[in-house]
Amino acid sequence: MKKLIDTKRMAEDLSDWYLASKRNLPWRKTRDPYQIWVSEIMAQQTRISALIPYYQRFMKKFPTVQDLAQADIENVLTLWAGLGYYSRAHNLHKAAQTLVNDYGGYFPRELKNIRSLPGIGEYTAGAIASISFGQREPAVDGNVKRVYARLMLDDSEVASGDMKRNATEFVARLMPHAQPAVLTQALMELGALICTPKSPDCNICPLGENCQAKVAGKQLELPKKKVSAKKREQKKTVLLVKNDSGDILLKKRSEKLLHGMYQYVLLDGHLEDGGCRGELVNMGLEPLEVNGIKGYSHVFTHLVWDMRGYRCRVKGNSLDEARMDYRFYSEEEKDRLAIPTAFIWVEKESKEHK
Ligand code: SF4
Repeated sequence: MKKLIDTKRMAEDLSDWYLASKRNLPWRKTRDPYQIWVSEIMAQQTRISALIPYYQRFMKKFPTVQDLAQADIENVLTLWAGLGYYSRAHNLHKAAQTLVNDYGGYFPRELKNIRSLPGIGEYTAGAIASISFGQREPAVDGNVKRVYARLMLDDSEVASGDMKRNATEFVARLMPHAQPAVLTQALMELGALICTPKSPDCNICPLGENCQAKVAGKQLELPKKKVSAKKREQKKTVLLVKNDSGDILLKKRSEKLLHGMYQYVLLDGHLEDGGCRGELVNMGLEPLEVNGIKGYSHVFTHLVWDMRGYRCRVKGNSLDEARMDYRFYSEEEKDRLAIPTAFIWVEKESKEHK
């Protein structure tokens, strides 16, 4: 049964609160769909405070969709290194090329065309359509579902089709009573600043008077989550290998995971010192030092790498023919390469163990 709510009042209270309290974020100074798009893609899986410097560097390097479309993917990945979820960078690059080739460098306005671009799902399409083009298109992400589920005391499972449908319908009912750009951002902002997952600040919430979870004291029980399946774990060993000149052994990945990015020597299983020495010899190198460093676990979407690490010094530069996918890079060259978050710990730990 539908619960009766004053959607006009809610939309107005939310808009007033947002206009008075919004954070001063770089992409909020514009309605340019290119900038809104990049900020939305970066914000997926990344905290806003962490992504601001990435966003600013990205915009400086690729100020227009044409600049991004013409860029070498390696340069895009280098700027993305550290943000994780690298398929986002590959998709941004591909979509920029589609925009230039098929749409003359402009963003299409129709939702179905926006949605058809690589890496743009329903949420991002709704965000671009409402924020950039002022269309009444709901943008429902995890923040919005949480706010909706609490306001309306909806105990559907958060990842279910029911939850998505109900939350979308709810936002669509608010839309006619506010500017779409303001409403979309206000819902996101409320979820990010006040109606947070673990400590909602209901006392200062602009929608507190209309919130059914607040009345029932069930804020922390909603939205309802499914118990997630355990992620597959793989044991790995990472070697930071340097030669006498201080050059570092790296490989450009051809695997689907972290495709096109660079890795240190990565071996399957947890190896002891002797095993690492054997692997280096197999590569055609003479190991001079092999020292253990603190390991690290990196969590991907469906997988965890439980990594053990070693700092190695070797003699020789010529690798065995079978391992020519690896090569030595100078420090300067390495700094220009895209090294993913999964490996950023290696150098830090290696320095601490010197
Ligand atoms: S009153 Fe509390 S639970 Fe309800 S929307 Fe506001 S912050 Fe969230």
